[in-house]
Order: sequence, then C-alpha cells, then structure tokens
Amino acid sequence: VSLAGSSSRSAGDLKTFMAGVVARNPGEPEFHQAVQEVAESILPFVADNPQYRDTMILDRMTEPDRQISFRVLWQDRDGNVQMNRGYRVQFNGAIGPYKGGIRFHPSVTASVLKFLGFEQTFKNSLTGLPMGGGKGGSNFDPKGKTDAEIMRFCQSFITELYRHIGEDTDVPAGDIGVGAREVSYMFGQYRRITNKWTGVFTGKGLDFGGSLIRKEATGYGAVYFIQNMLVAAGDSMDGKAVCISGSGNVATYAAEKATQLGGTVLTLSDSRGTIYDPNGITPEKLEIVKQIKEVERAPIAVYADRVKGASFHEGSRPWGVACDVAIPCATQNELEAEDAKLLIKNGIKAVGEGANMPSTLEAVHMLQQAGVMFGPAKAVNAGGVGVSGLEQSQNSLRLSWSAEEVEDKLRNIMASIHEQCMMYGQDGQYVNYVKGANIAGFRKVADAMLAQGYI
Ligand code: GLU
Repeated sequence: VSLAGSSSRSAGDLKTFMAGVVARNPGEPEFHQAVQEVAESILPFVADNPQYRDTMILDRMTEPDRQISFRVLWQDRDGNVQMNRGYRVQFNGAIGPYKGGIRFHPSVTASVLKFLGFEQTFKNSLTGLPMGGGKGGSNFDPKGKTDAEIMRFCQSFITELYRHIGEDTDVPAGDIGVGAREVSYMFGQYRRITNKWTGVFTGKGLDFGGSLIRKEATGYGAVYFIQNMLVAAGDSMDGKAVCISGSGNVATYAAEKATQLGGTVLTLSDSRGTIYDPNGITPEKLEIVKQIKEVERAPIAVYADRVKGASFHEGSRPWGVACDVAIPCATQNELEAEDAKLLIKNGIKAVGEGANMPSTLEAVHMLQQAGVMFGPAKAVNAGGVGVSGLEQSQNSLRLSWSAEEVEDKLRNIMASIHEQCMMYGQDGQYVNYVKGANIAGFRKVADAMLAQGYI
C-alpha cells in the first residue's frame, strides 16, 4: 500500500489520516477506533516535529509487522472434530520481542486483535521495559467446555503457534478467557514440542516459572494508577465509592486494592448483569466471587444469593450506580455515551480503564469535557504486562523475587507511567491522560523505528 497520497494531507488532518487507515483496513471498526484515539493526540504532536511528520511514522505504526492466521482442529467430548480460527498479530517489534496476551472469546476477529496489538505497542512502551506489541487469540468459546476440551484446544492451538513464538521473538500471556490454567496447558505443549524450557509464556503457574503478583498485577496496577491521579489532584482513594465492572482477574484484584486503600466497592458484573452490594465487596466477599467464577465457573448473579443485602440486576451495567470512581474491567466498548452521561450526572470524579478500550470515543470525550479525570487503558492497565516483563526477567535470571519485591517494582512502574502522562498531558489545569499516554508511548517506539533504519 502506497503512503504517497498521505504526504499531501495537511499536518494534523485527522479526517484524511483516518480515511487512509480505513481504506487500508476495511471492515475493522475496533481497529479504526483504537487508531483514531491515538491519532487525535499524536497528529498535532507529529505536525510540530519534522522527524516524525516527514517520515510518516504514525502511518507506518498502524501497519502490523505481521499477522498469522491458522486453523485449529480439536476433539470435543463426544468425539466430534471442531474447527476454530487462531491468530497472532505481531504488531511492532521495534523496542523488544513481541509481548501480549491471548484471548479466547467468540467475539475475536482480526480487527479486535489488531486493535489490541496496536494498543499493546504503546502500553508496553510506557512500562519502560523492552517489550514490543503483540496479541493473539481465537474465536473459541471456553464457556461450558470441560477441562479436557480446554486442554485439547490449547494443545492444538500451540501445535501451530509454537513455530512463531519464542522467548526472544514473541512471548504470549493470558487475556479474556485465558488464565493460568490455559497458559499452563499451552506452555506444556510448547515444551513437549520443542523440548525447551524457556520463559516463552508469562502468567505461568508459580511452581514452574510464574511470578508472584502476576495474577494481581493488572488490577492492583490500575488502582495504583487511579490513586496517583487522585493524589495529583489533592485527593485520594480513601472514602471513595467505587464501581467496577467485570468479575475476572482484573476486576477482583482492582476491588481488593481499592478496598485496601480505603474505598468501598459497590459493584461487579458479567455478561448477564451487575451485582450491587451497598455494604461493600470486601476481600472476604471477594473469596466468594473467586469461588463462583474460578471454581464453579458460574454466573456472578449467584453472589446475590449468598451475600445478605446484595442484589443482582439482569442485563444492566454498573454505571447507573452513584460513585466517585469507576473502573471498567470487562471488555471493549462497555462504557458508552449514555453511561458517561449517567456517571457525570451522579458526580463521578475519576474513571480508570482496567479493560482494553472499554470506553467508546464519544464517552471519553464527554468525560474529559466534563472535567472528569480519565485514565486510558494503555496507562491504567499496563501493570499486567509490566509484571509479565518482570516474570521474563526472573526466568532469564533463573530466580524468583518475593511478592514484596515484585509489588514494589509494580508500584514504581505505575508511578513512572503516571509521571510520563503528566509530562505530556498537561492541558492548563487539566491533565489529559489520553494525550499524555499516547505521546509518551509513541515517542519511544517511533524513535526506535527511525533509529533502526526503517526510513
Ligand atoms: N493481556 C494483558 C494486556 O492486555 C497482559 C499481556 C501480557 O502480560 O503479556 O496487557
């Protein structure tokens, strides 16, 4: 695809830029959305910096290094052969080996994985660790599958993917539908095929190279970031009413850390609806949540049957509940303009994205215009991949750090990301964290690409 046409556009022209992206990537709405969010802040910055403007570097960054798509056949419990599609998008390897999770969910498409890989490139850059951006997955639906079916699927998936990954080339981890169980099955198959014990996956079991605090890292890191935003504005998490969506890894550990820092967590949710607990979802009650979601693999609605005073609201999202802090930790586009309106009406102070791109562009603009502190995913949820990077370091060193050591490093990573956002995002009195995160993440990758002679 020629970029020649792009040089005639006036610098900072978002419309023309996006028209080029859409033409090169037809029918990929999630990818367009993620690129637009970045372009809104980067194009004006690029226009002021000839080394980026004249090299069309942002255009180049929207094109993945490579994309792999493959057939995955696996046998179900009745002995029938089932077929799914597997993918790995190696988006940008300029600053380190590709790094990013694997998602198993029926909504997975090339567009979804490209948006995630694009975001991951900026996110990984922000952590300060040498990790390029990648993402993978399948439209396989783990819901209702037996443990043996999950194992067979993971093994088949790796039987193809193994040849494209490695500790120095591409290091996958978990994401939606992929936790320690799935990572461990994939790692086992990789080891079986290659006869190599390497740090090729992160989020492994603790007995075979996994890192302490990796499981907690995304949720804890998100709350550390939000705490940093509040403190920078002369406030803190203490005494805040907090609404969280989702009920997986990110949501539960965000809830735990928010409570530890003095907040009261009022909600959690899944695809069927929201639970509301006016007394607060304390660490003891989070054990009930983990039992429901991880052991019984049942809907979160069950919580309302087990906890006095809690209620379940079928088909609804948490954003109608009055709160000071909202942390969307479920999936993309789960917080729309209507939800933003409700949050603003109820006096929201801060929103921090625990999931990847959980807010629509319209919702982000509305929250920012209302003066709400808004932390974007690539900054707020970077603690997960940050600790994955620390897991890689420990594997290379052949040693394990203590939980305190890892959490300390995580806290420092989140503080540094917050600082970088402040440095590039200050807009008068208001800190535009979206702009800050985008510019800080962009600079490092762009400079690396240019230095390596891609011109
Ligand atoms: N899937 C997570 C993310 O979105 C973690 C990726 C990783 O640890 O490599 O950042």
